[in-house]
Amino acid sequence: MFWKKIFLHHQKQTLEEIEEKLLEADFGFESTEEILSEIHSANKDSGVVLVLKKTFKERLKAVEVTLSNEKLNVFLIMGVNGVGKTSVIPKLANYFIKNNRLLTHDILLGAADSFRDAAIDQLKFWSQKLGVKIIAQKQGSSPSAVVFDSLESALSSKKKLLILDTAGRLHTKENLLQEFSKINRIIDRFQNQIEKHNFLVLDSTLGSASSDQAKEFLKVSSIDSLIFTKVDAMPKSGSIYNIGRNFNIPASFLTYGEKEDQIKPFCIEEYIDALL
Ligand code: GDP
Ligand code: MG
Repeated sequence: MFWKKIFLHHQKQTLEEIEEKLLEADFGFESTEEILSEIHSANKDSGVVLVLKKTFKERLKAVEVTLSNEKLNVFLIMGVNGVGKTSVIPKLANYFIKNNRLLTHDILLGAADSFRDAAIDQLKFWSQKLGVKIIAQKQGSSPSAVVFDSLESALSSKKKLLILDTAGRLHTKENLLQEFSKINRIIDRFQNQIEKHNFLVLDSTLGSASSDQAKEFLKVSSIDSLIFTKVDAMPKSGSIYNIGRNFNIPASFLTYGEKEDQIKPFCIEEYIDALL
């Protein structure tokens, strides 16, 4: 009886603590209630961490991004301005150099955020630092023209991976729609020769704003996986759970700093560990 009391007390504490942790991490009321009710209705012997793992895995998928050996792999990097698109490009290049034995000359970058000089310069800086070639045109040139040039160049020089930076001007939704339909049309012309992966980059510190961004981008393009950035500032971000739950798009990578090696594959277990 005494032990039972302590056990119940402990369970109650834990639930309250978990509720607090979820709300603090921006899971929002709906997801927090949902997760708590899963814990409530689970077999008391299964333990909170196990129930959390089961609940998270039912709603949140992690995907491992692998490269095709036969075709040119094309990564299209999408997302709103400031989320960390351009910064994730050297990180992805670096990751596949380390983990897939790519050489720097197997990779090409395409500067299809051609609206701002600064964006082109930022990618040029990384291309020089990594020793990776880049296709860029003058500021103001058409993004889809840069995409076309990059694809032609990557195929003719037998590159293995092409990473395309894009602009994410969400304040002009019509433009965004037109731009990405054009970019995707161009890429689709090469579909027999390439293996394409569309990444949506989301800032993990943004909370529920990320849901709106995912909604808008899903209107203009298919999305294969999500990259969450700035996890160093917000390791417990509830938006990772919420977007997986609401949009059924798997997460592939997390970035956690400004250095080019601060990227890792998304892992649900690690996410839960950070949360608790
Ligand atoms: P873009 O507009 O989407 O291309 O965003 P940028 O790549 O230019 O990044 C915007 C800002 O976020 C820059 O100051 C980056 O250094 C910063 N940033 C990007 N990723 C991370 C990250 O994982 N951690 C931290 N702390 N800062 C990041
Ligand atoms: Mg950028």
